[in-house]
Amino acid sequence: MNNLIEKSKKYLWLPFTQMKDYDYNPLIIESGTGIKVKDIDGNEYYDGFSSVWLNVHGHRKTELDEAIKRQLDKIAHSTLLGMTNVPATELAEKLVQVTPERLTRVFYSDSGAEAMEIALKMAFQYWKNIGKPKKQKFISMQNGYHGDTIGAVSVGAIDLFHHVYGPLMFNSIKASIPYVYRSESEDPIQCRDQCLQKLEEILICHHEEIAALSIESMVQGAAGIIVMPEGFLSGVRALCTKYDVLMIVDEVATGFGRTGRMFACEHENVQPDLMAAGKGLTGGYLPIAVTLATEEIYEAFYEDYEQLKTFFHGHSYTGNQLGCAVALENLHLFESENIVKRVAEKSEYLQKSLECLRELPHVGEIRQLGFMCGVELVQDKRTKSPFAFERRVGYKVSLKMRELGMLTRPLGNVIVFMPPLVSTQTELEEMVAIMRDAISIVCQEEEATLGSGV
Ligand SMILES: *Cc1c(COP(=O)(O)O)cnc(C)c1O
Repeated sequence: MNNLIEKSKKYLWLPFTQMKDYDYNPLIIESGTGIKVKDIDGNEYYDGFSSVWLNVHGHRKTELDEAIKRQLDKIAHSTLLGMTNVPATELAEKLVQVTPERLTRVFYSDSGAEAMEIALKMAFQYWKNIGKPKKQKFISMQNGYHGDTIGAVSVGAIDLFHHVYGPLMFNSIKASIPYVYRSESEDPIQCRDQCLQKLEEILICHHEEIAALSIESMVQGAAGIIVMPEGFLSGVRALCTKYDVLMIVDEVATGFGRTGRMFACEHENVQPDLMAAGKGLTGGYLPIAVTLATEEIYEAFYEDYEQLKTFFHGHSYTGNQLGCAVALENLHLFESENIVKRVAEKSEYLQKSLECLRELPHVGEIRQLGFMCGVELVQDKRTKSPFAFERRVGYKVSLKMRELGMLTRPLGNVIVFMPPLVSTQTELEEMVAIMRDAISIVCQEEEATLGSGV
């Protein structure tokens, strides 16, 4: 089996991974059942981050496995260019039913980043098609993350990931986003209103040239699980409407029950003009993503071919049958197993259970919306001064958790906890206990080295 480890070190280049880290801490997963995965040496781990924010019903869920096998007996893939297929059509109907009412059209792709690229291109071309070609620019949010293709990076703003590609990006105006814990007043209302006011100032100056605004829904994920204060997202919606700017809502991380609602924008009754979703759509099985649009946007592209209003965009595997079939079954399970309601209920329990972290000396803030949780570690709780970047405290905690039987990936000094939506109370409790132990062991070690002046 070690042969496989050698091969992985020799041939692979992993995403978002410093390969030098991988060489020291290799891991190869071989199987999984329920909310646990197993490596090639037989060690089991809780999937504490839902295999990077995807998994819903656990691994090897019978109904999902069967849905793929049934589809495989018919056909694996045919194109969506100029024609459609059975599961892509049925899934589109279902998606229109479960998403906010204004969204009536489904455009398929293979990843969240693509779903965002598509939303950006649709917004851009929409204004051209309706005769307002001056509206070409975008507003995006500070600390935003929408995926890793160049368009998605252009509306993203996470310096660590994005800075190096600066010269490749198109410009977008960055609007401030409330980060209450690190704001001066720490008052959510004041923080929210200041940001909304600044956004309005941008819109007053630039709305005639702005095509759309892009924003994650309720929680900025990659920025460190930063939950927006109540009224912010709906405030942004109101401003977009007032200044005639399309609102692109990114539900890739938050969609499909993750926050205790089917879509996070439902927390504030927000109706986007364009919405991107992915991750949980197939229950974490296959790479399908979607961009949903309003009928108004769709109609701006519907014309005689010679008018050149077609949306010239597509991918080889757009609308893949296996992926759509499993997504459809996933959505049936959401209904038959009452997933969203149960996440909402279990979240309250989870919130109480996370309280046990608060007393740890280096836990600065615990943030949570549904099953999306982040624990920000700080060097000094009183001043909130962060651990130095080079200390890699988040990374060390994640390695310690791995040792103790749970996988997750940190975001800097924020420990991410995003368990599969079917996790039971007992499982949640066990996972939180692993988190608590890992944080306290690593932070003690850090204190020892800090104390000795290393
Ligand atoms: C993960 C993520 C994306 C990108 O999705 P991929 O499938 O990884 O391309 C986009 N937006 C948000 C909010 C995400 O969390």
